[in-house]
Amino acid sequence: MINYSDEYTKKVKYEIEGKNYKYKINTFGCELNINDSEKIAGMLEEMGFSKTDNDEEANIILFNTCCVRENAEEKLFGKLGEIKRIHEEKGTLVAIGGCMMQEPSMIEKLKSSYKYVDIIFGTHTIHNLPENIYKVLAERKKVKDVINIDGEIVEGIPVKREDKYKASVTIMYGCNKFCTYCIVPYVRGRERSRNPEIILKEIEELSKEGYKEITLLGQSVNSYVGNNKIKNFADLLDSVAKIPGIEIIRFESPYPSDFKDDVIDVMAKNKNISRVIHMPLQAGNSKVLKEMNRKYSKEDFLELVKKVNEKIPDAVFTTDLIVGFPGETDEEFEDTLDIVRKVDFEQIYMYIYSKREGTIAANREDQVPDDVKHKRFNKLKDLYDKRIDEINNRYLGTIQEILIEGKSKNNENMLTGRTDSNKVVVFKPIEKVEIGDLVKVKILSNHKWYLEGEIVQ
Ligand code: SF4
Repeated sequence: MINYSDEYTKKVKYEIEGKNYKYKINTFGCELNINDSEKIAGMLEEMGFSKTDNDEEANIILFNTCCVRENAEEKLFGKLGEIKRIHEEKGTLVAIGGCMMQEPSMIEKLKSSYKYVDIIFGTHTIHNLPENIYKVLAERKKVKDVINIDGEIVEGIPVKREDKYKASVTIMYGCNKFCTYCIVPYVRGRERSRNPEIILKEIEELSKEGYKEITLLGQSVNSYVGNNKIKNFADLLDSVAKIPGIEIIRFESPYPSDFKDDVIDVMAKNKNISRVIHMPLQAGNSKVLKEMNRKYSKEDFLELVKKVNEKIPDAVFTTDLIVGFPGETDEEFEDTLDIVRKVDFEQIYMYIYSKREGTIAANREDQVPDDVKHKRFNKLKDLYDKRIDEINNRYLGTIQEILIEGKSKNNENMLTGRTDSNKVVVFKPIEKVEIGDLVKVKILSNHKWYLEGEIVQ
């Protein structure tokens, strides 16, 4: 572990003093990337930059990239094309970081076709951003700062969180699982867990600042390894649950076969741990799971769901599913539909398999044709769509405890928040109730993608 140094933060601050410099960050990808962007924003603000949402106004435009899905690449290159003019006219600095920059082919592409990019940084070198900005500002250098070895855990990076009541805290970096379709272990490195005492101190501070909901993050969050006192994920979860003021604790994403009895027991005894468990299944067929290098079978997954339901009767499951993994037959896909019928998933994030260069599955010759993949995807979507109404209707008449997140985006006169199971609920404001309060809301109607209710005293 190393401590963040603010040596270059001060130098940049001096360099841009009085110039009213602004930054804009474009974030692609998962919660971990969003959390990294909060650190990037934190460092920039310490350097003296302020935030803008307008490219034209920005003095530095940053991209925090993702390489898990193909369309993230298209989005990045589309956006880079758009800002070339701004860079040329105004001298705006352009910096690109994140997972995609850990792929050598991407760096080559940037160097040959997007020569105007000033800073390229990887997933292990985010903390060097002040130094890299200084090199560009003061020394007029282009910077490439990417390392392929697992980076150190850097503590003490300033964080600028968008939300005032909900905060994400990364507890581990990297992944050791090597699922055959996934690029993450190659771009984020091996698992490294943060010191538990430092994590708990950070959450205690967040609680003092008024944060009520904490999400613990990791690529395989329950593979967390602690120390002699707080040994594993179950111990850490139990300790977080005891921090005064933290009313809701979530975690994502757990790996099914690492979801051990101790975690289930800790959840069962601590009511402030969310009952929503995002358990990425990926496929319903055991042979496909084996070929994905997932360490559980269909039967193991069903057994785990049964065990959780026995100890936590109000548990709610959500999941990720991939359709059209190489070699998947129609019969094997039927197992995915079968498990969706058997497990009451409240939400399913569905993906059509797409090749990620550098992974084992991408080199397989038995790729499923696109039309077949789409047909299977639509079948799964139809099945799930039919179930949404059924699931939502179960909420009618129930009273849900909701953290008020703000005004509804579609109706300024309404407030919005989420049920513990992550369903969006809108409701009319009442006197003496403010954003950030926890309120009881009676659910009155179902609008498929959201529920409507009223605050009850
Ligand atoms: S567990 Fe599998 S899918 Fe998740 S990040 Fe690790 S390799 Fe990728």
